Amino acid sequence: MCGIVAYKGYKNCYPILLNGLHRLEYRGYDSAGVACLTKHGKLSITKKSGKVKHLEQLLKNKDIIQDCRGSGIAHTRWATHGKPNQINSHPHKDQSGDIVLVHNGIIENYDPIKKFLQSKKVKFKSETDTEVLVQLIGYFFQNVKLDFQQSVRAALQRVDGAYGIVVLNKKSPDMMIAARKGSPLVLGIKDKEFFVGSDISPIVKHTQNIIYLEDAQMAIIDGNDYKITSIDKDVSLPKKVEKIDYKIDDYDKGKFKFFMHKEIHEQIETINNTIKGRVNKDGILLQGLFKYWPAIKRADKIFITACGTSWHAGLIGKNLIERFAEVPVHVEYASEFRYNKTLVDNNSVVIAISQSGETADTLAAIHKANEAGAITVGICNVPGSSVSRETNCGVFTRCGHEVGVASTKAFTAQITVLYLLALKLGRSRNLLTKNSVKAHLDYKNAIKKVKLVLRKELDIKKIALKYKNASDFLYLGRGLNFPVALEGALKLKEISYIHAEGYPAAEMKHGPIALVDEDMPNVFIVPKDKTYDKIISNIEEIKSRKGKIIIITDSRDKILKNLANDLILIPKTNHYMFVVLATIVLQLFAYYIAVSKKINVDQPRNLAKSVTVE
Ligand code: GLU
Repeated sequence: MCGIVAYKGYKNCYPILLNGLHRLEYRGYDSAGVACLTKHGKLSITKKSGKVKHLEQLLKNKDIIQDCRGSGIAHTRWATHGKPNQINSHPHKDQSGDIVLVHNGIIENYDPIKKFLQSKKVKFKSETDTEVLVQLIGYFFQNVKLDFQQSVRAALQRVDGAYGIVVLNKKSPDMMIAARKGSPLVLGIKDKEFFVGSDISPIVKHTQNIIYLEDAQMAIIDGNDYKITSIDKDVSLPKKVEKIDYKIDDYDKGKFKFFMHKEIHEQIETINNTIKGRVNKDGILLQGLFKYWPAIKRADKIFITACGTSWHAGLIGKNLIERFAEVPVHVEYASEFRYNKTLVDNNSVVIAISQSGETADTLAAIHKANEAGAITVGICNVPGSSVSRETNCGVFTRCGHEVGVASTKAFTAQITVLYLLALKLGRSRNLLTKNSVKAHLDYKNAIKKVKLVLRKELDIKKIALKYKNASDFLYLGRGLNFPVALEGALKLKEISYIHAEGYPAAEMKHGPIALVDEDMPNVFIVPKDKTYDKIISNIEEIKSRKGKIIIITDSRDKILKNLANDLILIPKTNHYMFVVLATIVLQLFAYYIAVSKKINVDQPRNLAKSVTVE
C-alpha cells in the first residue's frame, strides 16, 4: 500500500527514485508519481495512473531528467480519497505551485479544512485529502508568511488522522521535510546524501544507516545537515541512527513467471529457516522472548491479534497453544481489537502477527495492549519494522522478502513460529515432556514432505483448470484445518477474484449449504484424524445435493475416492505438518486458477501488501 521514496543529495534523483518506486511496487498501488527540483529552480512533477513502468515511459520523453538538482520525492498511491487517476495521484502541490508533497495515510478532517481554504479562495484540483494538507502548508507559507518549516508544523498541528509525508518547496530549495504520525517513515543517511522511505526497501541499496522516525516526529534536512524534532516543537532530539543488516535480494523471479509462484516453491527452505537455530537437544530456543519468558509462561490469558492471512495463522496458533499449553487464547482482528472492550491487563500476553510489521490496525492494537500493561509479542518478517520495535519482544519469521501481495511463505512461517511457541509454552508449563517435544519436532523432517507436495504441482494444476469457470467456492475443514479452509478461500478470492468462503465443515449446514448446486465446487480438507468420520458425513451431505467435491487428504481410503470428483493425496505426516502441506496445495490451486484468467497474481487489483491505513 502507498509507498514513499525521497532523495536529497548531489546526484540526479530520477534513477534513485524510480528504482525506489520499483522496490515499493510489492506493496500494491494504483498510480505513481515523482517531483523534482530542477537546476533552474523549477519544480517538475510527472505522474501517471497505472504502473511504475508507465511513469518511466512518460519520463523517457522528457528532457527534465537531465535538469534535476538532486532533490526529489516520489510516491506509489493506493487511493483512499478520490479515484485512482492521474489528477489524484501524488505528488500534489499548493496553489502557488511552490510546495509539493507526497503523503501516505488519511487526513480525517480534510473536509472542514478544505472548506476553510476554499473560503480563502484556494482552488482544488484533485479529490484527495492529501491536496488539502499541501494547500494548508501553502496557506501558512504564502498568506500567513511563516517560513517553510513553521508552515509545515502549523499545518500538521491542525490535521487529524495518519500520515507519512515528505515536502519540498522551491523557495527553500536546500530543504526537505519529512514527518510522520501513524504511518511509518524511515530516514537513510549516507555522508551528504539523504533518503526517505515508507519502509527500508527503497533505501537499503544505498545506505544501512537508518533512523526510524518515531510517531509525531519530523526530520528537517537542510543542505548537508539534518535534525530530528517533534512535530510540535522546533527542538532538536537525539539522532538514533541504527545500522541495519537487512538485504533485499535483487528482484529476481528466477525460472518463475511470478513471485508468488517462486515464493510457494521457496517454502521448502523458508520453513527450515524459521526453525534453524531455534531447536536443540534441550528444547526450543526463542531468543527474542528470553527476557520476558518468565512472565509469558505464567500468563493466564493470551490474545492474538492480526489481519488477513496473519489472522488465519493466529487461529491455528490458538488451537496449538490451547492444546499444548492449556492457556485460553482469544483471537481477534486487529481492526476490532483496537476499538472493542478487550479484557487485556498486565497478566495478559498479546501476540501481534504481521508479515510486513507495518499493518496499521495491528500497530494500533499493540499500542492498546502496551497501554494496558500486557506483554506484547511480535511475530513479523521484517527486522526494524514498526511491529518489531513497538512490541516488548518477538520472533522473526525469517522467510525472506515476500513480494507477492497474496501471502504464501510468510503464512507457513508464521504457523511454524506459533508451533514452536506453543510447544515451548507447553514444556515450560510442565504439560509436555522433553521427549514429546522432541517427537513433535519431527516436524523438521516432515518438511521434506513439502517437496513431495510440490511434485504434485501438475496434478493440482489440472484439477484447478477444471474449476476455473466456477463463480463460487466453498472451502471446508475442521479443527486445525478450519483456518486452512479460510486461508484457501482467501487466496482464491485475492488472486482470481472468484467468490469463495471458508467454513468449519459441519457449520456449512447452518446456511451455506443453501448455495450448493451442481456447479458449486466444494474443497474439503480431510486429514485422517478424530474428525475424519464426521467430515465424511459432511461430504455426503454436499454430494447428495450434487455439489462438486474436491478432497485434499492424507488418507488412501476408498470411500474418499468414491466421494470425490477430484482428490489430491498428500504424504502422511503429523497433524501439524498436514496443515502446512494442505495450505501449499491450496496456494497452488488458487495460483493456477488465477493465472489461467491472465491475472497478475503478484499485484491483484485493489490489494496492497502492506496495509498502512486503518
Ligand atoms: N489518502 C491519500 C490519497 O487517497 C493517500 C493514499 C495513500 O496512502 O496512498 O491520495
